[in-house]
Amino acid sequence: MSKLPNIPTSIFSVMSQLANAHGAINLSQGFPNFPVDERLLQISERLLRENVHQYTPMAGLPSLLEKIAALTAKNYQRKVNTASELLITAGATQGIYTVINTLVNQGDEVIILDPSYDSYEPSVLVAGGKPVRISLNDDYSPNFNRIEAGITAKTKLIILNNPHNPTGRIWTESEFDALESLLDKHPQVVLLSDEVYEYISFAHAHISANSRPKLIDKTIIASSFGKSLHVTGWKVGYLIAPEKIMNEIKKVHQFLVFSVNSFSQHVISEYLDVVDFAAVANMYVRKRDLFQNLLKDSRFELLPCEGTYFQVVNYKQISTKNDMDFAKELITTHGVASIPISVFYKDAIDKQMLRFCFAKTDETLIAAAEKLRKI
Ligand code: PMP
Ligand code: GLN
Repeated sequence: MSKLPNIPTSIFSVMSQLANAHGAINLSQGFPNFPVDERLLQISERLLRENVHQYTPMAGLPSLLEKIAALTAKNYQRKVNTASELLITAGATQGIYTVINTLVNQGDEVIILDPSYDSYEPSVLVAGGKPVRISLNDDYSPNFNRIEAGITAKTKLIILNNPHNPTGRIWTESEFDALESLLDKHPQVVLLSDEVYEYISFAHAHISANSRPKLIDKTIIASSFGKSLHVTGWKVGYLIAPEKIMNEIKKVHQFLVFSVNSFSQHVISEYLDVVDFAAVANMYVRKRDLFQNLLKDSRFELLPCEGTYFQVVNYKQISTKNDMDFAKELITTHGVASIPISVFYKDAIDKQMLRFCFAKTDETLIAAAEKLRKI
């Protein structure tokens, strides 16, 4: 008996393992390979010897909750009640899983916009729900006609990811207007907005569901410090939800993890006093430009990247292989690891595209591009 009979090992593990086995430059799984900020290390070293090693309150370290609320007020003009609307989670993955397993009952439908992040569908399946996968437009904008056609009386949740992994597209105000009108017509549908790349938005400032007053009472926001503070392994994220929904989420959360790693919460809480998120975005836009420039004379065709730390390319000029085979060839023959885009689609739709992670040192990006330009 399997709850997930058709779900394989995550592509991010598979490709990182292959990269390691072949000594390839790993631009597959999304994590930085540069050191974390020295100030974060200094806070860690100091706090290590303090009384920070026991359970935090179930919903999270109070000072961290306060700081997230302050950031949400500053960035999105939303006042969050720290006691009733905020929860620290073990990364966004646990947050998303917990939300889905709180709200979705047997037979409930969840709309997932493809290409989509790999944890959404399995989380719905474990809950006994039915994932309804709906393709984004060719430019990865939302297709509201298709989304509306996918809504039924059983639809519980729509999952939105903005900025978008893997394509790097970001949502516009007018798309949020359209989403609001759609949700007005279907009041039983709740929105789960995955905003883990909220601080890595280039084309315009990130538009959070937090900043849309009409959405707030029907939206759960999931985010993570893994991306914005370069500590993906710390697995500290958070959820913001209306009190009524949050009360239910907390009931599930307390028996999934009870509370999240205390040391990381203490360090992040202090570090939030000094971190400059604008500098994080500036660093990534510079890395995107560097990587794009390095590849502009290659035979890879670059798609636009408006946010996240992923660059999607198509390789139609190079090979007719499917993207999984080509990604493997790229590792074994050319020494660079990527993620094939077909894995983000329900039926493995293959558009001969790959995703490269540019959260890497300039030296790594230069070395990888040198290999890619030769192909
Ligand atoms: N959502 C998206 C879109 C992601 O790319 C990721 C992972 N990087 C996550 C959720 C999971 O985040 P975390 O590592 O904090 O669990
Ligand atoms: N979110 C990261 C990515 O898209 C990977 C996270 C993971 O390995 N589970 O590459």
